[in-house]
Formats: sequence, C-alpha cells, structure tokens
Amino acid sequence: MNLTDINEIRALLARHNFRFSKSLGQNFLTAAWVPEDIAAAAELDEGAGVLEVGPGIGCLTRELSRRAGKVVSVELDRALQPILAETLTGCENVEVVFGDVLKQDLPALAEETMPGLRHVVCANLPYNVTSPLLTAFIEAGCFETITVMIQREVARRICAPPGTADYGAFGIFVQWHMETELLFDVPPSCFIPQPKVTSSVIRLHRRSEHPAAVEDEKLMFRLIRAAFNQRRKTLVNAVSSQVPGVTKEEMEKVLQTLGFDTRVRGEVLDIGGFAKIANEISAGKSTDL
Ligand code: SAM
Repeated sequence: MNLTDINEIRALLARHNFRFSKSLGQNFLTAAWVPEDIAAAAELDEGAGVLEVGPGIGCLTRELSRRAGKVVSVELDRALQPILAETLTGCENVEVVFGDVLKQDLPALAEETMPGLRHVVCANLPYNVTSPLLTAFIEAGCFETITVMIQREVARRICAPPGTADYGAFGIFVQWHMETELLFDVPPSCFIPQPKVTSSVIRLHRRSEHPAAVEDEKLMFRLIRAAFNQRRKTLVNAVSSQVPGVTKEEMEKVLQTLGFDTRVRGEVLDIGGFAKIANEISAGKSTDL
C-alpha cells in the first residue's frame, strides 16, 4: 500500500471509519518525498533507536523502520490502532505505544524499548503541542538529535539569531541545549487535511557543552524571560520590574561593569551576554552576604 497516495489514504481511512481530530493536530502527509526527506535528515543507521510521536497512518514510521535499528512510535489516538496494525505489517523493528507522549517517562521508555541503541527523535509533530514536546525531548537528556517537522513560524523562532524579530526566550532555551538547523519547508498541499500554515523541518543536535558558563542557570532564564516578556523595554526596566530582588540601580551597575550600554534591550544580546549578566548579578549577591 502506498501511504502517501491520496486515493489510497482516503480508501484506507473510509474503510476504518476514521475521523480526523483537529485537537490532536492530525494532518497526514500525502507527498512521498516528505517522509523520505525527513527520515534521511535524521541521519539514521542500525545503531539508532528512534522515538516517533504520532505515527498517524504510518508513512514516516515505515521510512524510519527501513533506516533505523528500532522505532518506538507513541500515538494518542486509539482509533488509529487497527489502521496501523494493517499498514505496519512486516515492520518488525517497530513498536507502537498507545498513550500521551507528554505523560511518558521518556528516558525510561527509550532505555526499556531500545536498549543499547543511540536514542534520537524523529517526527511530524502535532503542531498545537510543539513547545511542550520539544521541551520534554530536550529535558529528557537522552536524545542525541531531534529531527522534526513543525510550523514554519516556530521553526524560525527556534533557529533565530540575536537581533532578529524571531529571536526569543524559547529559541534561546533550545539553543542553550542544542545546535539548531533549519532544513527545508513543506507546503500545506502536502497534507490531508491541508493546514493553514507552511511547515519546516528542523534538526537539533545535543551540545556536548552549553554555549557559555553560567553560575545560576535559573536566574539566567528568569532574566531572559523578563527581557522578552517586555521586549520593547530596556533590559534594565524589564528585569527590575519583573525579577524580584534585582533593582534598577543594580542592573545599571552590572551592565556598566560589563561594558554594555545601560539602555540595551535583551533582544540584541546573545546567550553569552545573558550568561555574563547573570554571573555578574550572582557575584554581586555573594559579595553582599
Ligand atoms: N506521522 C504522521 C504523518 O506524518 O502523516 C501523522 C502526523 S500528525 C501531524 C500528528 C500525530 O500525532 C497524529 O497521529 C496525532 O494523533 C498524534 N498525537 C497528537 N498528540 C499526541 C500526543 N500528546 N501523544 C502522542 N501522539 C499524539
């Protein structure tokens, strides 16, 4: 069966009385090159164990199965069970787990289902939960690479450099842990039903070290969130109005000590800049004691 042929997909879904769920972000691929190129981008081999989120009817799952040692695919919609039983017949290295991927203990799942393999994520994500999913994959700490298709706007934000309109707190969080690459776009015409937005495939590689040394990571991310919550304000005003215990005078002194303009806005600072500022605040607090 050709799982990206629109007529075959329609016949398969009709045979199983399947109804698309918008709330589960169900937009299935209908162009063969897309699952092929996503799976190729994940750089798989026999040593790779892939976690996929949402196999749908299994078109990307089958591509992953051809290239990896093992594929574990977590699907929330049980209505897809009889369909996947049919479409994944013969894919011996695929295990489908029914449940909410956000409720799984991901390191334990990867270790139990794919022991001895290098763990990676590859998926066409449900777009409405992109940020919680990426956060969970990154915080799980066990995935070397994450290759996913997501909404183009979100992909741009994740990969954005400082000083651009797309640069923000979530992108900095991702870039703190992972090297980011924006790979290619996929138009709405490649899906059923067609989404309203263009999609992009990104690849994230886990960094062996964070891009800067920071004493208090929590404080640094508090500064970053404050800066981008009020991105039109100067960093001094944004931080002193939102981060308890950091005054305007203290922030001005910190920026002066580090040689930054005291009217600087957070959106132009790179991660190294935020790390330096957080370290200077921490140093000030410890000498105060
Ligand atoms: N992989 C298929 C493809 O590319 O055609 C389907 C991708 S579709 C964009 C997203 C899939 O994720 C759907 O099958 C949906 O049911 C599933 N899904 C949505 N939320 C989920 C969750 N929290 N946990 C597991 N699967 C989920």
